[in-house]
Amino acid sequence: MPGQIKQNSGAYLIEIHITEDFTIRQGRFRGEKLSAGYYYYTGSAQKNLRQRISRHYRKNKTLHWHIDHITSYTGNVIANCWIFEDAPKETECHIAESLISGFNFRSVIKGFGSSDCKICQAHLLAGKESPLPLQIFSRGRKKFLRGIKVRIFTEE
Ligand SMILES: [Zn+2]
Repeated sequence: MPGQIKQNSGAYLIEIHITEDFTIRQGRFRGEKLSAGYYYYTGSAQKNLRQRISRHYRKNKTLHWHIDHITSYTGNVIANCWIFEDAPKETECHIAESLISGFNFRSVIKGFGSSDCKICQAHLLAGKESPLPLQIFSRGRKKFLRGIKVRIFTEE
């Protein structure tokens, strides 16, 4: 079936459009402010990748991951999501690194989404005022992407 993920595991990058200046209201990062713009969150799932991503899109959920404190608000919209099929866990860090080095993205909240990561400052990065082009990871392939198929997530 086209669009189906064979192993249903891998890494992902979600693009979140924060449409109005936003302050996190609960949890460890309560009080942290994010100004309107595009933000990028990387993660991975060794199983149930599709379900994990669908959950990010849902507004109504138990707040479990750091990112839930952002995605559960109506004004914060997931604009796009890239899937790195069957990629190993460290790919999430490589994605973050490549956005920092290649696009001058920056972490805004230290430790956000990266509690279990020793390399990255955060797995949430602030982008620019406009979204990333959809084909960004299929052109000019990076070394870490070798053998990894990147596709745009679409909800079924
Ligand atoms: Zn990392």
